Amino acid sequence: MSEPSQITPIPIPLRDFAIPDGYLLERRILVSGAGDGIGRAVALAAARAGAAVILLGRTLKKLEDTANAILDVPQAATPTVCHFDLLKAGLDDYWNLAKQLSDAGDGLDGLVNNASILGGKTPIEQYSPAKWMEVMHVNVNGQFMLTQTCLPLLRRSKDASIVFVSSNVGRKGRAYWGAYAASKFAVEGLMQTLADELAENTAVRVCSLNPGRTRTAMRRAAYPAEDPTTLPTTQDVAPAFIYLLGAADRALHGRALDA
Ligand code: NAP
Repeated sequence: MSEPSQITPIPIPLRDFAIPDGYLLERRILVSGAGDGIGRAVALAAARAGAAVILLGRTLKKLEDTANAILDVPQAATPTVCHFDLLKAGLDDYWNLAKQLSDAGDGLDGLVNNASILGGKTPIEQYSPAKWMEVMHVNVNGQFMLTQTCLPLLRRSKDASIVFVSSNVGRKGRAYWGAYAASKFAVEGLMQTLADELAENTAVRVCSLNPGRTRTAMRRAAYPAEDPTTLPTTQDVAPAFIYLLGAADRALHGRALDA
């Protein structure tokens, strides 16, 4: 009997990805939570790589700052600002947003489900039910609704990519991470279920990406005593997202990845 053949893991460039000029040219990409942190860095990197970027988030001023930074990039496409609060939005707001995006362009080639909130770091026994609902609403229900309403637009692309932003605590539970951890587990479940549904007869790829510890406001809130200068920056993790938003290998469909 022959020995089972060894499977050699294929290295995925992710964080080390050297973004080629024009890598995302002619791609239209929506980034949620694009006003700050990782979402802002991904939106900027996507615009630098040639994408037309849709900036979605809850604080208009921050979205405008990201948009202005993109406008400073030579030859970048003018970004679209979508002032949209995943906590407050009703179902009709999501469908109206999708309609506006559809009316304004061809479709979507990428969706980065990045916007999330931390909630409190509290034992489950003491976790505020109101805070729990809020975290689940933004981190899970919001991502579900944005994905569902954007899917018809993504299906119009020759090769679309959906990236759900995950976390270590969405793959292994950890004390006191409460609703945030549960929400990231739910996002992994959403990603896997959708990936299975889109496995055949579709050009839409889905995966989750854990950026790892990154110097942002959320990380500061989670680890107030940590020296932020010891952490990778948002610019360090952005190339992993850009890789996945381009014409990356379909073999990554359904995978839970680490940047
Ligand atoms: P961040 O700096 O706090 O950014 C989060 C973004 O989400 C902000 O732009 C925020 O908008 C937006 N947002 C929050 N609530 C929203 C709502 N209701 N509607 C619309 N937008 C909303 O956090 P980050 O560290 O960049 O996190 C980005 C992603 O990476 C998250 O999914 C997070 O779970 C994940 N992650 C981060 C780390 C890390 O070490 N930083 C590690 C693992 C995973 P405002 O700025 O207007 O509040």
